[in-house]
Amino acid sequence: MFLQVRAIYIKIMSNEYKDIHEFDFSLICEYFSNVERQGPGSPEATIKALGFINNLTPRSRIVDLGCGTGGQTMTLAQNAPGEITGIDLFPDFISIFNRNARMLDLSNRVKGIIGSMAEALPFEQESLDLIWSEGAIYNIGFERGMNEWRQYLKKNGYIAVSEVSWLTNKRPGKIHDFWMEHYPEIDTISNKVAQMQNAGYVPVATFVLPENCWTEHYFAPCDKIQEAFIEKHAGNPTVRDFIAGQRQERELFHKYKEFYGYVFYIGKKI
Ligand code: SAH
Repeated sequence: MFLQVRAIYIKIMSNEYKDIHEFDFSLICEYFSNVERQGPGSPEATIKALGFINNLTPRSRIVDLGCGTGGQTMTLAQNAPGEITGIDLFPDFISIFNRNARMLDLSNRVKGIIGSMAEALPFEQESLDLIWSEGAIYNIGFERGMNEWRQYLKKNGYIAVSEVSWLTNKRPGKIHDFWMEHYPEIDTISNKVAQMQNAGYVPVATFVLPENCWTEHYFAPCDKIQEAFIEKHAGNPTVRDFIAGQRQERELFHKYKEFYGYVFYIGKKI
């Protein structure tokens, strides 16, 4: 999902496309609608992050920003009490999200709504107990998300996000340049923790997502659907470029995975 969506989103923001419909985004949605997750992660990683959060009750209000089709939201709902609202920019993802919630018998307390994290969120100030966001805060940037979302949390409420980060202080020029081009906000774990602290949270925990969050839970399911997708849209230049981007992301990961990865950041509002 990562790079293409962000690139398209930036073009929309800069008015290169007037709105999302001018770009054939439905193709990318179609592709990702067929997989459980739209970014690296796993049920085990979601549950581990949840283990650091101890303020939840059946009356808690939880929001999952950039929820996609809700893979991680359903895991959250099955392992935590409270009402959960998932928000995503793309209507197709939200339809699948709500269908999943119904199928799992969770729709009495799990709802997906269409909305943008780049705008004011439809919540009162200091009304939320937990803000969750896996592989999605990059859409507006880690620092901006940390700062803007804080107002919606109650005092002592939690934030838990996963974000691509440098694992080492130094790295080969090629991977450095790649990320500088696509997401210059990528930074070391200690710098991200400092940003979280400066935004008004106590850093509670960080952990690096294990490699299987990429391989088993992200690349492998995408592999399964890729051939059929290419065949169905043979000759479509959008699909060709999109698949090339997906493959580049994966090759870079295999080559440079010791230097970057996804990291969960959990903080408590003070
Ligand atoms: N959390 C999911 C999806 C991650 S992919 C998972 O881990 O599987 C990033 C998600 O952010 C996509 O579903 C994309 O549609 C969504 N997104 C992109 N820009 C957004 C915005 N401005 N507001 C809300 N969601 C957005």
